[in-house]
Formats: sequence, structure tokens, C-alpha cells
Amino acid sequence: MAEILSADMALERAAALLAAGETVAIPTETVYGLAADATNGEAVARIFETKGRPRFNPLIAHVSDMAMAERIAVLDPLSRKLADAFWPGPLTLVLPLREESGIHPLVTAGLDTVALRMPKGFGAEVVRRLGRPLAAPSANSSGRISSTTAEAVATDLGSRIALIVDGGPTPVGLESTIVKVEDGAVRLLRPGGLSAEEVEKVIGNPMLRGSAGAVVAPGMLASHYAPAARMRLDAAEVWPGEALLAFGPKRVRAAENAVAVANLSEAGDLREAAANLFSHMLRLDRSGATTIAVEPVPKHGLGEAINDRLARAAAPRDKPLAEE
Ligand code: AMP
Ligand code: MG
Repeated sequence: MAEILSADMALERAAALLAAGETVAIPTETVYGLAADATNGEAVARIFETKGRPRFNPLIAHVSDMAMAERIAVLDPLSRKLADAFWPGPLTLVLPLREESGIHPLVTAGLDTVALRMPKGFGAEVVRRLGRPLAAPSANSSGRISSTTAEAVATDLGSRIALIVDGGPTPVGLESTIVKVEDGAVRLLRPGGLSAEEVEKVIGNPMLRGSAGAVVAPGMLASHYAPAARMRLDAAEVWPGEALLAFGPKRVRAAENAVAVANLSEAGDLREAAANLFSHMLRLDRSGATTIAVEPVPKHGLGEAINDRLARAAAPRDKPLAEE
């Protein structure tokens, strides 16, 4: 069962666990977050494992100050104005990711944008103490409602995590509002704890609603995370000219034919495989092979989300697969 520590006692212990790659439930002003070091792929994979999330949707990265935000992402003037007005607070900005951000690709689901937020209180303190951003979706198992008290987190996830930091009931009680600046206009991607009216008062214009083009939400398009190469799933052998995305210690037939090989996990460990998924797909894509053969990956545990992402990458381009 998870240890529960009051927020005013928990800073050092939480930071130590996070530095060691563990997940910790932390209070934020919105809802309780299940936090992990956003620069550590296996730590981020534990978030999905702990929540039992069947999909690798992108997560919000939490920062302690503007300097950290600027090291991770590029803030245009309008995004900076919103950050000045509402950070720390329940507003998340989707921003272009910097090349050397250090953010692990599992946080962004391989996208070239990142969702950033500066929380108030314990969330910001623990990020500052750790010196690294924290990925943190709501601290509840997949499909359940977000937890707004430490007791609710304990009931739902207590057997799966080492530490729950109790900061009392969360003041906002709703997830953050997510916006993205597009060509000088602000699009509301998800309504949340900061009202649209408050945002609009600052920008002086109504926000754009709904989705741009066909992309309703990240991950909704079947091919959203697709590499340029074709993906051939559950391959039993490698065909000439193909690259190979491998899994586990044993190779499929004719693996020696592969023009490039990347193994998601030599040991067959699904957490390691999840952490490697996006970077390995990208690496093989850059090898120039027109097709990537993919060895079978088990479907249990994190394997469900890995297979979901592989199926999206392999799907015909621009066809919706399933909703998030
Ligand atoms: P949460 O589980 O509350 O952390 O939710 C994170 C939300 O942020 C999800 O709805 C994601 O779809 C959204 N999100 C995260 N990163 C991005 C991104 N790069 N672009 C657009 N939406 C994002
Ligand atoms: Mg949630």
C-alpha cells in the first residue's frame, strides 16, 4: 500500500522517488497528478502501466519556471502573454518542442509539439527540487474519473504506487484548460479549470473552437504517429529491403536481411519497449527503408498500448481509426 505523506513533509521523499524513476501521486491545483520524470522513458512508461492506459496519448509536462519552459519549447508572443497572465495556474499551452528539450518522446507521443503547464504549490516545488519537468496525467486508473483527494488516489491506485502526497482537496477540481496558438489565433483544445472567457479577456478575441482540419485530438487519426515508411505488423520474416523493429531475444526469419534493426527490448521487457517505441520508429524511418517489418509484441500490460500505437502507425494514411 502506498505511503501517504502530507505535502509539507513530502518534498524530499517525493523528489528522491521521482529521481529514481518511480511514479508519485502529487497534488496540483487542478486534480491529483500521477507524476514521473518527463526526461526518463521508463519512468513515463510506468505512468501508462500504473493507470492501465490502453493508448499512448501525449501527456502534459509540468515546469517550475519560465526558464524551464523556454528550454523545452518555443513560446511565441501570444503564448508568452497567456503564460504571463495565467501561470502558475490551470492553463496548458501546446507549443513547438525544442530539439534539445530532453523531454522523452513517450511524453509527446512522438509529436513535435509539447503540452506545458506551470502548476501552483507542491507540483511546482517538486519540479524545482528535482530540476527536471514532470509528466503527469490525472492520478486515476484509465476510464475512472480524476481524483481530487489523496483518499481517492489511495483507493484507486494505492496498491500500485509507492507514495501519495496529500495536499488536501484540490482547489480547482477540474483538469487544466488546454490551448494552442495557431497563426496568431488561440484554439481551445480542451475546456477545463480556467474559463474560456478569462482567456478571451486576455487575448481580446474569441478563441477558435473545435479542431483544425481533420485532427480532432492527438492520436485520433489512425496515421497520426505514422512514419514515412510503411509498417508491416506481426511479421514472421524480413523481406529484402525492409528495416526491422524487433522485440525480445529471438529474431524472426531472415532478420539478417534487414537494412537496419532496432530492438524495442532485447530482454522482452514491455516497459523498456514502451520507452523505446517512438525513438526506434523514428530511427528506422530515417534509415531510408520503405517498409519497416515489426515483430510481434505481446498484447498484455503495456503491450496493449504499444500494439495500439503500432496499428495507428501502420494504418492507411488519414483514416480515423478509433476515438481516444
Ligand atoms: P491529461 O491526461 O489531463 O494530462 O491530458 C493531457 C491532454 O493534453 C490530453 O487531452 C492530450 O490530448 C493533450 N495534449 C498533450 N500533449 C499535446 C500535444 N502535443 N498536442 C495537443 N494536445 C496535447
Ligand atoms: Mg485523466
